[in-house]
Amino acid sequence: MASRNQAPPDGVTVTGQPNVEARARRMKRVKRRVWAAGAVGVIAAGTAGFWSMPPTPEASAEVVEPPLLAAVYAPPRDVAETVVLDAGQTLGELLGEAGVGSVEQASLMLVMREHHSPRRLRPGTEVTLSRWVADDYLRAIDLQLNADSALRLERDDAVGWRASYRLTPVVWDTVTVAGSIEEDQSLYQSLLELDDPAVPVEDRIGLVSRLARIFEYRLDFLHDVQAGDSYRFVYEREGRPDGSARAHTVLAAEFVNRARPFSAIRFELDDRADYFDPEGNSLRTAFKRYPLDYVRVTSNFSWRRYHPVLGIYRAHVGTDFGARTGTPVLATGSGVVDFAARKGGYGNLVILRHPAGYTTRYAHLRGFARGIRRGTRVEQGQVIGYVGATGTVTAPHLHYEFRLNGQPVNPRTVDLPSAEPIPAEARDAFAETMRERVRLLPPAPVDVPRGLVAMGQPVGAAATP
Ligand SMILES: [Zn+2]
Repeated sequence: MASRNQAPPDGVTVTGQPNVEARARRMKRVKRRVWAAGAVGVIAAGTAGFWSMPPTPEASAEVVEPPLLAAVYAPPRDVAETVVLDAGQTLGELLGEAGVGSVEQASLMLVMREHHSPRRLRPGTEVTLSRWVADDYLRAIDLQLNADSALRLERDDAVGWRASYRLTPVVWDTVTVAGSIEEDQSLYQSLLELDDPAVPVEDRIGLVSRLARIFEYRLDFLHDVQAGDSYRFVYEREGRPDGSARAHTVLAAEFVNRARPFSAIRFELDDRADYFDPEGNSLRTAFKRYPLDYVRVTSNFSWRRYHPVLGIYRAHVGTDFGARTGTPVLATGSGVVDFAARKGGYGNLVILRHPAGYTTRYAHLRGFARGIRRGTRVEQGQVIGYVGATGTVTAPHLHYEFRLNGQPVNPRTVDLPSAEPIPAEARDAFAETMRERVRLLPPAPVDVPRGLVAMGQPVGAAATP
């Protein structure tokens, strides 16, 4: 189950698009629920209200505060005509065909060149010419430079023409998502197959990737996720009037793995935004739980088909990751290359040396990334090699070991130092943000022993068991 709410101003007239109306209806329903829960901070933010924009470029792109636009019925002053720049066609040719005389063209080009080279316009660029209804006199030209910005050339009686940039207005949606992992499903499949029209299909792979990145220091999504696990999160979606999304930001998330909740709350500090657990500790540690890109591996490879190999995983000193030959292998932590060559049953092996006595090993590689040799310094997440089947193997996979002072240890149980927690002076602000964001979460799809459910209660109630 999920819901979506954007925060358009009351009284906005939305016409034409049924999906917009449906969204507005949904918004109203959700808004009531959220208000009842007492959270307004996040939802009230943003520059909503642009669904009401009329299709002409006449509408102002300015952010009006508060954004109340009443419906206005008046005869249009100008007529707009949009033409598309063909491949090989110059803007001058296009304007000429549209009836713009050469003197007018010259003065237009002069102004335009100060802002954007007419030669750099791509084929397919939409050019909208607006003319006064009364006398057919050209008054403005809008060039859609890309999805997010347009250049407007406007007649100005004093200086002839003047130019200005306009940013495509955006709307902020707050979307909530909740689901659980079914038998033989990965997180990737669960989210992609989620029966929820409020979560745009084109957003989903990006969301899987974001969730995996948030939790990659705490959870091995490739091995640990199992049927019965569940997730819920709330994200902000920056959308254009045509419905496409420009950015997403996960505000709060909870993943329940084997009845144990893992929580993440986004918090913006002065110099960075990061995810923290409810105690204010950063989710980031010196090591990621797995050396592969989650989406890349799960989107084209079913680990479960390799289930027999999983049996070995428990018994031997490392963790095996089934993946296609050639899949990039990433350093789980920053360090220095200690070994990068062939070594018996390991095949092509990379050993990285990290601070505090930790080493990591990556085996059976098809080959090494460029520049990876003894003594090379690598950063966390850097590509060090590629999955292969060298050494003693029956199928391509990555064998990964995590060692402390030479002894293999389980990265899941070892206590790793985290990145800096919330600084003391930001604790109150964090607590406030957390309350707001946790309240935005949808109900947990399964019972969580001590998850964020309790934390969503008003202050005071959370302490009661
Ligand atoms: Zn192995």
